[in-house]
Amino acid sequence: MRRLEPRDLAKYPFLKGAKAHVQSSGISIDSLIRSQSGKGDSLIKLAAERVKQSLRPPAFDETNTEIQNPDDEIYAYAIARMLASCMDDPSMLDKLARYEAERSAYFLKAEDPEVVAHIAKAVDLDITAPDMSVKQYVDLVSRMREPRWRLVNRDVTNGRVRCTADDYAVLLREKIRQVIRLQLPLSVPGPIAVRLRTYAEDVSRAYQEQILEQYGDVDEGCFPPCIRAIIAAVTDGTNIPHTARFTLTAFMHTIGLDETAIVEVFARAPDFDISRTMYQVEHISGSGGTEYTPPGCATLRTYGLCVNPDKYCKNTAHPLSYYKYCKKISGKKA
Ligand code: SF4
Repeated sequence: MRRLEPRDLAKYPFLKGAKAHVQSSGISIDSLIRSQSGKGDSLIKLAAERVKQSLRPPAFDETNTEIQNPDDEIYAYAIARMLASCMDDPSMLDKLARYEAERSAYFLKAEDPEVVAHIAKAVDLDITAPDMSVKQYVDLVSRMREPRWRLVNRDVTNGRVRCTADDYAVLLREKIRQVIRLQLPLSVPGPIAVRLRTYAEDVSRAYQEQILEQYGDVDEGCFPPCIRAIIAAVTDGTNIPHTARFTLTAFMHTIGLDETAIVEVFARAPDFDISRTMYQVEHISGSGGTEYTPPGCATLRTYGLCVNPDKYCKNTAHPLSYYKYCKKISGKKA
């Protein structure tokens, strides 16, 4: 196996070799970030750009994957992980891990087979085996939605799932994503977090804008009947079930309301309890590491929460689709 050069490590900066390369350079990432030097600033900017790109991952090609300075790329990757960790938002960490895995997958397509084998080994995926255990397979494909990955559509013999070279190309990308995501969030020392704060706020703003672009300004007039009914119940002081509270919170969080604004909706209840509400809202909005979206219409029907469906409901399978559709036809930004 040939020795990986800095240019290789810049393509796959999640490898332990990249960390060792930084350590051997004698310039620690912490000191670079803390210094107010032009170099520190430019690397933080490069890292912030990387995190911002993860909000809208590009289709990778030669125009956006050129590596001008391998060391800068490696440092930028390391700083990007710190920056995203400072944002206290699990969905940012998901996005960054996905972005980095997609970027690596782009390089892997034209990679020296020896390097591919090295990377697969580094993330503990045997891409030479004709099959893998059902457990490993299920863990790997749990977030992959295409029918081809469903276990019922696979060739399973004696508890092992057959995998082709094409499968492994995708599974390796997913394994890289999982490895990167599992390492996040990083524990960022206070002074570093302070130095990165402005950049983290800038990325947060870009993320918020992206959500607003997707859903437009919040417009209660376009809330679907089920959500309006839950709000009416809250306002009336009715003790709503957990499923309703969860649905309302996840709905409002997904369309871009921040935690304070969500709590304000619950504050309409006569028996409003701020600490209990804050705890629930933070949990559903992702502070526990999982960000939730509201259930679809079929599930809401089973909960008895689909009430007064109207004409838009006929063609919708999800309250969020209802909301987007309503905003679109009412001529507002959606
Ligand atoms: S059909 Fe869906 S969007 Fe409409 S009220 Fe029922 S659950 Fe809500």
